[in-house]
Amino acid sequence: MLENYNLLYEGQAKRIYSADEDDQVIVHFKDDATAFDGTKRAVIRGKGEVNAQISAHLLPMMANAGIPTHLIDVLSNRDHLCHKVDIIPIEVVVRNVAAGSICRRFGFEEGMILSRPLIEFFYKSDELHDPPMSEEHALLFGWAEAWELAYMRHAAAVVNVTLRSFWERLNVTLVDFKLEFGRLGNGRILLADEITPDGSRLWEKGTMRKLDKDVFRRDLGDLSDTYRELHQRVFAQKD
Ligand code: C5P
Repeated sequence: MLENYNLLYEGQAKRIYSADEDDQVIVHFKDDATAFDGTKRAVIRGKGEVNAQISAHLLPMMANAGIPTHLIDVLSNRDHLCHKVDIIPIEVVVRNVAAGSICRRFGFEEGMILSRPLIEFFYKSDELHDPPMSEEHALLFGWAEAWELAYMRHAAAVVNVTLRSFWERLNVTLVDFKLEFGRLGNGRILLADEITPDGSRLWEKGTMRKLDKDVFRRDLGDLSDTYRELHQRVFAQKD
């Protein structure tokens, strides 16, 4: 269905196409998985569909919680119609439990529960490996304005509360996740990109079994099976 549209951008896990309206794009979710700055790669059968469907389920939930998103409509199992935005070059990571890079940076043990959610900013740059950054960097180098940083913090906190209780109900701990935001032509900020197990850490309660992309990063099993299981958990409760 996308052959009539121009490919605008190809990322590691998604392609962005033009849409019928100039201020909209089609986001297509691929099966490709990459880790460690693209040095580890695989095609994970069905991953794109699981991610697209989970994100299509979660983004409207965030909109209902008062955080508007770029998602306009779901076009197919892998394709979202979205508002075209200029992505702010800051990855906003929210952590409830220590895992991944925070353990490497500060020597914490994986699984340490944080006494309150931690919001971290990373400069979005593949070449520079997304270095950690502060609001001072954003202001000095013009990556975002003060009100935008304040809004992203607020939105990330609201998303965290909403997502945490969603995953709790499915017996899953939301360890951490990454968000991206974008600006519309009029300067308004939307939650953009995706909310998926590619960009989140999700642990089964009790067993701490990983239900996210760490299964691929750390060779913990078959990611295709893991994502299928997660998909079943998310959509079983809908009926
Ligand atoms: O690697 P790190 O521990 O900082 O990642 C924190 C969270 O952000 C994880 O859920 C990870 O999947 C996500 N993330 C991401 N894209 C990146 C960096 C981190 O989705 N470029």
